[in-house]
Formats: sequence, structure tokens, C-alpha cells
Amino acid sequence: MKKVYIDTLGCQMNKSDSERILGIMSHFGYEECDNENLADLLIVNTCAIRQLSVDKAYSRLGNWGRIKKEKKQQGIPIKIGICGCVAQLEKENLFKKFPYLDLIFGTRNITQLPELLKEIEEKRICAASDKPILENNYDIKRTQSINAWLPIMEGCDNFCSYCVVPYTRGRERSRTIESVLKEAKEIISQGYKEITLLGQNVDSYGKNLEDGTNFAKLLKALDNLKGNFRIRFTSSYPTDITDEVIETVKNSKKICECFHIPMQSGNDRILKEMNRRYNVEQYRNIVDKIRKNIKNVTITSDFIAGFPSETEEEFNDTLKIIDELELDYSNTAAYSPRPFTKAGKMVNQFIDEEEKRKRLQILNEKVKAASLKSNEKYIDSLLEVLIDNVKDGVYQGRTRNNKVVHLIDNKDYEIGQFVNARIKRVSTWCMFAYTE
Ligand code: SF4
Repeated sequence: MKKVYIDTLGCQMNKSDSERILGIMSHFGYEECDNENLADLLIVNTCAIRQLSVDKAYSRLGNWGRIKKEKKQQGIPIKIGICGCVAQLEKENLFKKFPYLDLIFGTRNITQLPELLKEIEEKRICAASDKPILENNYDIKRTQSINAWLPIMEGCDNFCSYCVVPYTRGRERSRTIESVLKEAKEIISQGYKEITLLGQNVDSYGKNLEDGTNFAKLLKALDNLKGNFRIRFTSSYPTDITDEVIETVKNSKKICECFHIPMQSGNDRILKEMNRRYNVEQYRNIVDKIRKNIKNVTITSDFIAGFPSETEEEFNDTLKIIDELELDYSNTAAYSPRPFTKAGKMVNQFIDEEEKRKRLQILNEKVKAASLKSNEKYIDSLLEVLIDNVKDGVYQGRTRNNKVVHLIDNKDYEIGQFVNARIKRVSTWCMFAYTE
């Protein structure tokens, strides 16, 4: 067997893609290795969402170029590949930047890997076309202990002015409900206890299928599968969350009470500049509706600090909305100009780097405080925890609403066991509990 080392940067969709890549490669003479110095093939699965992620990928390629040169001097030939969003965006240009690259394949070319692996034995190759990848007939080498990623749709039609995803993942495409259910049944039969449905906008699921299916129907069908497991999903576009979805989560036994709903800014003018299709009031109404209907629900979000032309006052609106809506947790980032995007062209309105850093820091402090406040609500509550890890003798798991819990009662548990835990104390990022 040849050895492949894969370095995955970016989101859960990329992690899921890497599991698919490794699954396919295992059928064609490759096994995964965790030491880049021992690999026959090095692959970086890239993210293009921020320049920082792109720089990280390029730095990996720089290091691997040096490894390849040293190996060549020792008479050991190795190959280097790049895939994911940067590969899809840059295509052959990457050969100019990194002349020692052997393989470039885009986000929609994963199922072509069997041919590509043969071809790189003879020549270097670039495949970054629009072929859909969602249907996969190969095994998947899942890397999570009790959680399995399950992509249900890919791509995005929204074209938010700051986002490069529509250019890297293409237009929205959904898998058929039969295909999703088949993979879900396989996951359950393999003993996984949690299925996380993935998509750029999961609520858009089914729009292109024209068979009357939609996200709520898919959730109901998954909820009806036999077995003791949980279902999660991410991410949701605020105004695409339907009453039917909320009702389905409310009435379900297996679907966890969490919604990840990126808001991006708490100011209407900035939301408009971002080409988001909602205003603050609409977002507020959705959060209110979810909270009114679903007990103990966690609502998380994403925010960007320092979008072009954002004033300090407009940035403060973001800080205020986190408090007002009691958002449980938010991912944050400083605005990073991306190629092809409308906001990337607003050069004369870019916010100074120092100012962006300052706003990001303030935003992070706000998110930390919000997370602690959210955790404090659960002190003395009895919550179901699914154990997924043990570290230094302390078992850890997650509640249905995705809070990390450390079990501090010195008992022995099984990974994958469901327990009821009484929350005794909390910190910013986790809760401490005893089982009952
Ligand atoms: S909804 Fe907007 S931010 Fe999300 S992937 Fe689509 S374009 Fe990007």
C-alpha cells in the first residue's frame, strides 16, 4: 500500500470531503498515514473563505516542496496534491505558483480520483470542472468517533457580497432523499450515534429536485429511521427556515435543539451591503419564533467585523444584537477581501487592518460573555449527554443543544453512551456535571 497524508483546512464540508477522498483512495492502493515525512502522496484540502486560510495552504505546499526535494535527493519520489476551494478557484495557476505540484482537483472532482491517481503516475494533472460530487459509490473513511458527517446539499445561489463560496462550490445541488436515507442507514448500522447533516444552506435542500421534497420532509424521514441516534444540521439561512422545519424539530425525538443561523451583522445598512436577504427585524422574528416553540434551544451565529464601510456605530449594533437576542455562541472573523466578490472591489472603503483587529477583539469578548451567560442558564439542570471522548480520565460529551459537558464524578462510561447529567458549574466554553 502507498501512504497518503491529507491535511484538511476549513469547514466541516471539507472534513467530510476528506473522508470521501480517503475512502476512494483506500480502493486504489493507498492507506492514510499521519506523518507527512513518510507519505508517498501529500494532499492539502483547502479553504478559500479568508486569505489567512489560503496562506496556510500555501505555506504547507512550501514545506512539502522542500520535503519533495530532499526525498528526491535520497532517490524517493513523492507526489504533492491540492484540492478543495483554493484548487477550484485557482486551477492551473497553482502550477505556476508551485511548479513541483503533481495534482490539482476541485471540489466537484473527487469522484474522478480513481482516474486522476493513475494519470499522476505519468504526468501532472489539473481537474477542476463542474462535475457534481455528491453521489458517491465508494466507502467513506469516517474519522469522527461517534459523529458522522452527511452532506445533503452543496453550493449556494445567494451570492452574499463578501463570500467566495458560490465560485468554489458552485450553484445549489441537493442529493436525492433516497441517497441521503441510504447513507444515513449505513451510518446507523456502523454504530454512529450522531449524524450531522451538512450543506451551505440546509434549508434550501430539495429546491432543485422538483419532486416536492424539502428540508422538513427530509428531517421527518430521518427522524423515522430506527435506532438510538441524534440528528444535527448546519448551516441555516435565516429567512429560509420554514415553520414546517421549526415544527419538525419541536416534535422530533432525534433532532437536536440547535440552529446555526449566520447573521453576519446587526445593522440593516451593512446587511444590505452584504447582499443578505433579510433585515435585523426579520432575523429577530425568526429567533423569537424558534425560542417560543423549542425549549432549551441553542441558537448560534456568525459575525464579520470590519466589513467595508462599516462605521463604529454600525459595528456597535452587532454587539447590541448579540446581547438582545441572547445568542448562545457565535463564530467571528475580521472581513477578508475575496476574489470575484462584490465587496472585494470596495477597495476605497476597506477598514484599516488595525481597526478590524480591534473590532474583532471586542466582538470576541462579547461572544465569550454571551457563551458564559448561556451556560449559566443550565446550572442545576438535568441534561442528556452523549459521551464522545475521554481526556486525562475525564469523560466528555455534548448535550442535545450542543454544550460541551465534562463528567467530574470519576465514574467509568462508554464512548457513545447516553447519560443524564446534572450540571453543577459552568465555564465560558463548557459545563461540569455528575450523572444521575
Ligand atoms: S449564503 Fe452567503 S455566506 Fe453563505 S455560502 Fe452562500 S454566499 Fe456564502
